Amino acid sequence: MGLRARIVLFVLATVLIAHVGWGLFFSTREARLLRLDAEHQGQDVLRALAAPCSVPLATRQVEELDSILASFALEEHWGLLDLIEVAILDAEGVVVAHSDPRIFGTVAEGGFAAHAVRSPVPEVDEIQTAQGPGLQLSFPIVSGLRWGTATAVLSLSRVDARVRELRTAMIVFGVLRASVLAAVLYALLAVLALRPLDELSAAVRRLSEGDLNARAPTSPRSDEIAVLTAGFNEMADTIQRHTRELEGEVASRTQDLQDANEELERLARTDGLTGLANHRSMQERLAEEVARANRYELPLSVLMIDVDHFKIYNDTNGHPQGDTVLARIAAILRERLRGSDLAARYGGEEFAVILPSTDAAAATIVANKLVAAVREQPFMGEASQPSGQVTISVGGAELVLSSETPAQLLVRADMHLYEAKAAGRDRLVFGGTLS
Ligand code: GH3
Ligand code: MG
Ligand code: MG
Repeated sequence: MGLRARIVLFVLATVLIAHVGWGLFFSTREARLLRLDAEHQGQDVLRALAAPCSVPLATRQVEELDSILASFALEEHWGLLDLIEVAILDAEGVVVAHSDPRIFGTVAEGGFAAHAVRSPVPEVDEIQTAQGPGLQLSFPIVSGLRWGTATAVLSLSRVDARVRELRTAMIVFGVLRASVLAAVLYALLAVLALRPLDELSAAVRRLSEGDLNARAPTSPRSDEIAVLTAGFNEMADTIQRHTRELEGEVASRTQDLQDANEELERLARTDGLTGLANHRSMQERLAEEVARANRYELPLSVLMIDVDHFKIYNDTNGHPQGDTVLARIAAILRERLRGSDLAARYGGEEFAVILPSTDAAAATIVANKLVAAVREQPFMGEASQPSGQVTISVGGAELVLSSETPAQLLVRADMHLYEAKAAGRDRLVFGGTLS
């Protein structure tokens, strides 16, 4: 059950119990007072009846007694009490006048009448009559001597009906008043406590669902809910701040990782000494270019390059100087080739060049320019080379479309490279043609 429902129930139950309890207590008290009033009224009437009866009773004037009795039997005297019977008894307890003439002359019997005849004071007793609860009253008729007793039996039906009416009215009024009071109390509670609590719990729910902007409205009051709200908002600020920092950190780490991966990828595809693509990268690119050339029926040429008598250069100038030569030759390749071409270090002092969209004629021109460029490039210590210069030999081949694999193409170019070596080095052999 929600807090709101529990408060409604609590307020309603408390107010209702208080009011109905108060109504019951009040109506019970009123009922007792009404009964007492009725009793007093009955005794007052009996007193009034007894007063004029002593003389006729002393002189045994029965008609006079009858007429007095008849005048007192009238309803108006008894108010809410309903008269069942009224009688005048003489000192011996003989009925000398009665509202029911048939009773005349009988001796009053039964506990109450016998007791009342002897009692010097008025008597009252509650009895059960045929019409419901009732009262039995007596009043001594005294005038110097005790001449007799006036008695009456009265029904309390109308008094009890009035009591019931009063009790019902009290309960209905109590329930109504309790409802109104409960409604007012609830409205006050709603404004003072429930609404801020609702707003706070809505904000908590939104935050728990991932809305980091969720905040509860603050109030100028300084009660527990305001303290709770301020605490929650502070917590939400902290969570939001930490989340932002964490997201920033994750983003920056992710970027670092991405950069590192890209660098790793680049390094994995690059030759460390020359900065050219490495063997693996060249193989991949060659496979792609062969596939593309076949698909679009474009020419494709490759060159295999080997540095001439490089062993001699190393032996004379040392390997570090040999490395410098390799790096310089790589630079010449990069400078002379187009962006769409690919120069790679094939291994050792050998290089491979892929020339997409380039047929044998164009590739021959490019390769010859490379041979000349290396020859013309001055290198430290090259005088000790057999030709007095650092030179390269190149074997070239153009792809036979739709029938040759990348490996077969490379084998052919390599074959021509050896032909170039055999023909004296520092030259190109392309597709078996010496140039
Ligand atoms: P040829 O003209 O027949 O190719 O003669 P060559 O001496 O160049 O051929 P050979 O295969 O006998 O020797 C190749 C040399 O290249 C041997 C090796 O020391 C050298 N070499 C291979 N890789 C590197 C390298 O990374 N750095 C240096 N400095 N030398 C290398
Ligand atoms: Mg070699
Ligand atoms: Mg060589």
